[in-house]
Amino acid sequence: MSYLERFMADVECSVTPYHAVETIKNKFLSADFVELKESETWNLERNKKYFAVRNGSAVIAFTTGSACGFNIVAAHTDSPCLKVKKNPEITTGGVRKLNVETYGGGLWYTWFDRPLKLAGRYVEKNGDELRVKLFKSERSFVVPSVAIHFNREANTSFAVNSQIDLMPVVGLGAGESVIKESWLDEDLFVVSDEKPFLAGEKGEFLVSPRLDDLASAFAAAEAVINAPADGLSVCFLADNEEVGSSTKQGAGGTFLKSTLKRIACSLGMDFDTALASSFMVSADNAHAVHPNHPEKSDPTNSVILGEGVVVKHHANQNYTTDAVSSAVIKQIAEKAGIKTQDFFMRSDLRCGSTLGAISSTQVSVKSVDVGIAQLAMHSAVETVAASDLEAAVKLFEGFFKAKIQFPEDGRIILK
Ligand SMILES: [Zn+2]
Repeated sequence: MSYLERFMADVECSVTPYHAVETIKNKFLSADFVELKESETWNLERNKKYFAVRNGSAVIAFTTGSACGFNIVAAHTDSPCLKVKKNPEITTGGVRKLNVETYGGGLWYTWFDRPLKLAGRYVEKNGDELRVKLFKSERSFVVPSVAIHFNREANTSFAVNSQIDLMPVVGLGAGESVIKESWLDEDLFVVSDEKPFLAGEKGEFLVSPRLDDLASAFAAAEAVINAPADGLSVCFLADNEEVGSSTKQGAGGTFLKSTLKRIACSLGMDFDTALASSFMVSADNAHAVHPNHPEKSDPTNSVILGEGVVVKHHANQNYTTDAVSSAVIKQIAEKAGIKTQDFFMRSDLRCGSTLGAISSTQVSVKSVDVGIAQLAMHSAVETVAASDLEAAVKLFEGFFKAKIQFPEDGRIILK
C-alpha cells in the first residue's frame, strides 16, 4: 500500500483528535515503540524508540540516540468542527436536531448538506472505576441548508448564525437521545464524514476532511517511525491548535517541555544545553494560490500546489521562521531532494497563527514554520496536491537524519 493510500485510510478514521492519536499510537506500537506513562518514572535506554500520550489527544514519540540536541517536528491533531452541548435535543417541525457550538474557525457554510458523524469520547462507570472510551456513530447526519426560495440572498450575502443554522438533524419524531444513559459525561463532536478522494485528470488532488493538520501529523509520525534510533528525533502532535493551544494537551501546555526534560534527565544530558542545540519544525498547512482568487496571495511569493513544502514567514512572528531557520530547513530539503517555496500573507490581510510560536513560550528553541500547500483551509473538505504529502514525509525524514550544530560563532554546521 502506498503512503497516500495509507494516509487516506488513516485520515478517514481519525475523525477526532482522540481517534487520530489512537490510530497513530497503534502505528507506534506496531513499529516497536515502547509506551511510557507520564505518571510513572522513566528509565530510558539509549538507541530505543518511545512514546507517551496525554489526554488521549496529544502524543509525543521520540528516539534516544546520542545527538547534542533534539530535532523536533510539531503538528496538531485537531480540526474545526461542531461540539454537542448538554441536553442537546430540540424537536422542531417533527424533526429532532442537536444544539451545538462551534470548535475553531471553521468555514461553516461548507458544513451544510454533507455527511456528518457524531464522534468523540465518553466516560462510563465500571464498578468503582470510571472508564474513558472512544465513540463514533454508525449513522451519518446532516445540517440542512435553507432553500433558496426562503433565502433569496443566500448566494450574495448569507451569514451563518452559529446558534441557529448549524444544528444537525438526527431523527424524525420522538427517539432515543444521542447521549447514552450510561455515559457519565462526554466530549462529543459533529465531524465531517466525507470519504477522502482523489480528484483531477490524473488524480493529482487529494480532497479530504482534516488535511489541516492531519497531513502534517501523519507525515511526522511516519518520519519518526523511519528515523534512525541513534538520533534524538521528537514527533510532537498537540491538540487544541484551532482554539489557541493553551491547554494541558496543547502546544502552550507543558507536555513537550516536560517530556524533553525527562528524556534529558534519563539520558544524563543537561536540559538547557540540549535545548540550545535543538531545532523545531512547526508543521501546519499553508495557503496555496487559489485559482479563482489569485489576488488573495502575496504578489511576489505565490505558493503553488505540488511545488514542494512551504516555508512560512511573518514579520510579526505569527510564524517562528527567521533567516537562520529558513536557511537550515531549505538545506535539509535540498539534500532530501525536496523543493521548497516561501509563503508570506498579503500585507493587508490578517495572518493566521500556528503552534510553533506558542510552543516557543514553553520550549524556546530555534524554529521554522513549514506546511503542505492547500486550498479551502477549514472547509469540511480541503484540497492538497497528493504529491506534497510524500514530500513532507521525506523532508521530515531528512530533518530527523540531520545533525545540526550551532557553535555560536556565526557558523551553523549541517551533517
Ligand atoms: Zn492547522
